[in-house]
Amino acid sequence: MLNREKFNRNMIYREIGKTGKKASIIGHGCEHLDRKPYEQVKSTIDAALECGINIFDMFMPGQEVREFLAKALGSRRKDVMIQGHICSTDIKQQYDISRDMPTVKRFFEEHLRLCGGYIDFGMLFFIDSDDDYKNVFDTGIADYALKLKENGDIGHIGFSSHNPVNAIKAVNTGLPEIMMFSINPAFDIIPTDESIFTHLEKGFNAESFVGIEPKRAELYRLCEQKNVGITVMKALGAGKLISPEHTPFKKPLTVGQCIHYALSRPAVVSVLPGCQTPEEIFDVIKYLDLSETERDYTEALSSVKSGLHGSCFYCSHCQPCPAEIDIAAVNKYLDIALVPDASGKASVPPSVRSHYQSLKHKGAECIKCGSCEKRCPFGVPIISNMEKAEKLLN
Ligand code: SF4
Ligand code: SF4
Repeated sequence: MLNREKFNRNMIYREIGKTGKKASIIGHGCEHLDRKPYEQVKSTIDAALECGINIFDMFMPGQEVREFLAKALGSRRKDVMIQGHICSTDIKQQYDISRDMPTVKRFFEEHLRLCGGYIDFGMLFFIDSDDDYKNVFDTGIADYALKLKENGDIGHIGFSSHNPVNAIKAVNTGLPEIMMFSINPAFDIIPTDESIFTHLEKGFNAESFVGIEPKRAELYRLCEQKNVGITVMKALGAGKLISPEHTPFKKPLTVGQCIHYALSRPAVVSVLPGCQTPEEIFDVIKYLDLSETERDYTEALSSVKSGLHGSCFYCSHCQPCPAEIDIAAVNKYLDIALVPDASGKASVPPSVRSHYQSLKHKGAECIKCGSCEKRCPFGVPIISNMEKAEKLLN
């Protein structure tokens, strides 16, 4: 029998960038509730609320699933935050992306109505290709989102994307305060010019893994710098990372390890797994009760160690440190500081400097004992990183 009360008590909430709102670190992507009976939608939403989940992604444009979700939330709508997507449309029961303004308005305004006249995050949908970017940010669609915000119909503007290059452009417009992005350890090491969808459809090609993909690192840095919170989709790589048959790594990751990986990336606020039953909700919530060892994702990744050598995965495998330095945190701030900004220049974002400075123990306290380097599975030069971080950030 699951101890539901304990899960609820343990939920952790993180600030969503500069929005002034806090999201549960585990949210809910409602996608897999689509075309399910109302009773199933209701029991899954009940379980999510019971566990303290307060952020829901509702990208699906189907009328029935939107109605079921609204009805299942009922008066509890006010207790949760919703990501609703602008440009997500349903043409003859085929889900589609539309950049046609009257169509876009019709679908979003119906969603607004069902959500009680207010959607917390108006997400500009699917900013993946150059055309997606142009057709949203260089047209009236971005203005429409702004107007919705001015009118108080949405609380904040966000967007969703699977492509770091166009996501960077979107963040650089200064418009979004939240981004939903696909993050997992396999996607993070796929070269930018390869589509994650090809890897999902045809199976991961581990031969092409390149180590931490620089554009993704740049995107996370930018979000941290501009205080844009990240919510995460596809944390399990559509289930492939946890499958013995499909995982690209030495062994499959567990659900908890995938969640922990995503939550350990810079600027990430919440992971939104697509649960379709109360049991699946309770299963992902078990993450909260896992030990550090159970969350540790490094063993699975070590099969591609050669491509990853020297890159910090923020796994904390190197702890404990006798000087009590949070080595993963120092490495994270250093990595963010070292990624060039959009103009190609290296500059330390003030927010990163201030995060580093508020650490209880900093790089300067390293006594160079070397015990961390022996434990790091990825050959990270930790001692020299501690020195660099101190020089750059303090
Ligand atoms: S230094 Fe190594 S062990 Fe420590 S957090 Fe980074 S990758 Fe993990
Ligand atoms: S080398 Fe420095 S950072 Fe590593 S464990 Fe020792 S004191 Fe900590």
